[in-house]
Amino acid sequence: MIFASGYREYPFWWEAFEPASPDLADVPRDTRVAVIGAGYAGLATALELSRLGIEATVIDANDPGFGASTRSGGMVAGTHAIKKPLISSGPDAERADRMMSDAADGFDLLQRVIEDEGIECGWHRTGRFTGAWSKAHLRDLEATAERVNRLCGANAHVVPPERQRDEIGSDFYFGGMVTGEAAHLHPALYFKGLRDACKRRGIAVCARAEVTSLKRNGSGWSVATSRGETIAGDVVIATNGYTGDVTPQFKRRLIPLRPYIIATEPLPADLARSLSPKNRSFSDTKRIVTFYRLSCDGRRMIFGSRVKWRDITPTEMAPLLYRLMTDRYPQLKGTAISHAWTGNVALTLDEQPHAGQLDGLHYALGCNGSGVAMMTYLGTQVARKIAGVANYACAFDEGGFPDHALYSGNARWLLPVIGNGVRLRDWLDRKLG
Ligand SMILES: Cc1cc2nc3c(=O)[nH]c(=O)nc-3n(C[C@H](O)[C@H](O)[C@H](O)COP(=O)(O)OP(=O)(O)OC[C@H]3O[C@@H](n4cnc5c(N)ncnc54)[C@H](O)[C@@H]3O)c2cc1C
Repeated sequence: MIFASGYREYPFWWEAFEPASPDLADVPRDTRVAVIGAGYAGLATALELSRLGIEATVIDANDPGFGASTRSGGMVAGTHAIKKPLISSGPDAERADRMMSDAADGFDLLQRVIEDEGIECGWHRTGRFTGAWSKAHLRDLEATAERVNRLCGANAHVVPPERQRDEIGSDFYFGGMVTGEAAHLHPALYFKGLRDACKRRGIAVCARAEVTSLKRNGSGWSVATSRGETIAGDVVIATNGYTGDVTPQFKRRLIPLRPYIIATEPLPADLARSLSPKNRSFSDTKRIVTFYRLSCDGRRMIFGSRVKWRDITPTEMAPLLYRLMTDRYPQLKGTAISHAWTGNVALTLDEQPHAGQLDGLHYALGCNGSGVAMMTYLGTQVARKIAGVANYACAFDEGGFPDHALYSGNARWLLPVIGNGVRLRDWLDRKLG
């Protein structure tokens, strides 16, 4: 593998927008709602509260956008995966169906926010191709396509191996599935658009103010931060993969995980077009999923996954991702890597995102690696719940937020156990067909 001469261990997206806070808003003495975490979830919560006439302050330990929201693959689909969870029991069938249709609403909501706020973020509604990792997985995709069409209106169809080249410049898979209702965007510019929308509404976003304690104060809360205290009527926790010891009740329900991404140097236009002839985004049916797409200008390959279960640096992970990328695209051998980076997502024990209220705290947490639309949606739903919107309903706010007696929030031992088990199952699936 080759690193380009200007190689940076730095999110490629930050070349267009780097989280920074030139003017620090003071932490106010009091606020109606304190939202902790300035990613998509936190900003979407504050925006919807503002639309509903409720004042809110967003507080972040870092520069707003420092978290996963400016680092992702930027791939979005109007579908939701209900998997058999590894540890905890999953949702019942009826609720699972409603979660899927709520996820489709999340996709529509995301597009509406982008349009209503005039956010320039490379939104390409060009569909996704999910490659079948084995012949058996291709057969399973028939049922998946039927289900996502029925519940999500996903406009999905199965692609046999002989038609695969229409979708992807690769013979790596055994066919796959196209999801028409899917898109990709520039995650950092989408974040910037949300932040600008907050600014326009006069919502205070307080940077570099780490919340260090949360205490009950009458019917509200005292929120202590590294830049002073605020008294809030309600508190929303939107810290996802960065959730820490201030909220141990959430920390032990979340398993932080770091996916990694590499970006190539700009490719010759013909080569780039041949990798993704319809400008689709890509993932596959592997349990340890790979996700990839062209950059918004169609010039670079952006390729993400995770190979090791120990946290290593993006530069150490880059050659391993490069191997996965060139397994799929041998024509990219010799192409140099310009950027590599990582960020934290949060897995949950039932592998579903959750919103709701626990110990009096509102929350939108647990994106399970897929949060561009979902965390925008859950933040919006939490705001509606706080405002008491009459027909508020959200299937992700039902059934409780599972924990486990053997897990207290220290994922160091858990991830290798889960990761190696999952890797073995992937290997067996491919071998056995
Ligand atoms: C490498 C990578 C690839 C991804 N690819 C995709 C993809 O292709 N498609 C997709 O849909 N999703 C993807 N995701 C997931 C998606 O990015 C996340 O689900 C989403 O951004 C989460 O948003 P959030 O607002 O919940 O959290 P974040 O954006 O992570 O924000 C959490 C914030 O909480 C703050 N915080 C934590 N503790 C405190 C505290 N004590 N006080 C104050 N602030 C605090 C942090 O500083 C951080 O800014 C990816 C994520 C990563 C990392």
